[in-house]
Amino acid sequence: MINGGTIYALATASGRAGVAVIRISGDQAGPALRSMTGREQVPTARRAVFGRFLDPANGEELDQGLVLWFPGPDSFTGEDVAELHGHGGPAVIGATLEALGRIPGCRLAGPGEFTRRAFQNGKMDLTQAEGLADLIAAETEAQRRQAQRQMNGALGGLYEGWRGDLIGSLAYLEADIDFPDEDLPGELLARQKPKLQSLAAAITAHLDDGHRGERLRDGCHMVILGAPNVGKSSLLNALAHRNAAIVSSQAGTTRDVIEVHLNLGGYPVVLVDTAGLRDSDDLIEAEGVRRALARGEGADLKIVLYDCAETPILDEQVLLLAGHDGIIVATKVDLADQAPRTGTAISTKTGLGLDGLLSRLEAEACRLMAGQSGPSLTRLRHRQGLENCRDALLRALDEVEGELVAEDVRLAARFLGGITGRVDVEDILDVVFGDFCIGK
Ligand code: GDP
Repeated sequence: MINGGTIYALATASGRAGVAVIRISGDQAGPALRSMTGREQVPTARRAVFGRFLDPANGEELDQGLVLWFPGPDSFTGEDVAELHGHGGPAVIGATLEALGRIPGCRLAGPGEFTRRAFQNGKMDLTQAEGLADLIAAETEAQRRQAQRQMNGALGGLYEGWRGDLIGSLAYLEADIDFPDEDLPGELLARQKPKLQSLAAAITAHLDDGHRGERLRDGCHMVILGAPNVGKSSLLNALAHRNAAIVSSQAGTTRDVIEVHLNLGGYPVVLVDTAGLRDSDDLIEAEGVRRALARGEGADLKIVLYDCAETPILDEQVLLLAGHDGIIVATKVDLADQAPRTGTAISTKTGLGLDGLLSRLEAEACRLMAGQSGPSLTRLRHRQGLENCRDALLRALDEVEGELVAEDVRLAARFLGGITGRVDVEDILDVVFGDFCIGK
């Protein structure tokens, strides 16, 4: 990514809309604003003024709308920022962007470049930048709340607090090394170890969260399993239509898996129908079961169906598929002579039991994703940084040599700093900001 220069981009979604916002950031934002509006001066800071947008090349009017001026460092990026709020039509936007491109020193922004500048100018840490990306991507209430919390600095604050503790310990450990005669040798070391121990325990507890935050960010996978013709597709369709908030419906990664994205009580759920089993031999056969188990392996929740009209007694394979925490559902209860003895009874034909099953799934979604007291880690990147940090701390606790302890503590602090971006992390920036779209 090219780093310097004044950047501009459409900040709102492209397509037709009432208003489109074009954002410009960098030291040429003021001159660009002046030449795009024909004004002698930039407007008063943070006050919207109405004006015409002109092509600087020939003075032709391209559009008209509101103009805003945010002088650095009190702007989103920390640099001078200008905003043009024009009409949201493709040709109008295209012409305005093209005109901006002809202004010396201005270029189209790359993905995430505005937020990257905000990070580089100390406006936010990396976890906050990720929180912002998640907020823009959030599709459900619970996702929005988690992203907002992270964007507001809850996660970064927790990690920075821990890093501060480590740096405090490090200062003492180094004093012990540098001035061994000042105090009883090793006493400072002995005093720091319990602190390191409790920090390692706090990190372990934070890591041991059942992947709640990551699951909430990505959507929790509930997989429907069962023998051919027990009513798996019918259930997927029934749940998808019963629940008004379908986020999207798409074919899965393999052709024979169908995924529907649902919003269950504010929690994002990916409901997966393993239609592939349809083509395999009878489920009773070992291969059928093996394939089903493999499908269900990555699932956060297994929903195992059996046809209670055909198999009044639950067979062993269903129990095997469900494991200890799967949900067993007895289907086609409208055709059954008697009430099934095991599982939640439903009929997609009459609708019986579907609301109850939906509530049960909502409760499971909440159990799997609801946050605990503190902020949750939301990405593998955080998890890896924390694991590395904890491992370094555990090594430090095993050491007896002051210098070696200090070295591992320094390393542990660096791993935490890598999560928030408070250390030299140039190499991970492309990874973090590459996820953004242009204009963010
Ligand atoms: P899958 O192979 O497990 O996905 O099963 P399908 O959903 O395709 O259903 C197989 C057959 O059972 C279809 O003919 C459905 O119409 C029928 N079916 C599914 N659910 C019910 C139900 O609750 N009651 C009745 N009577 N038929 C059902």
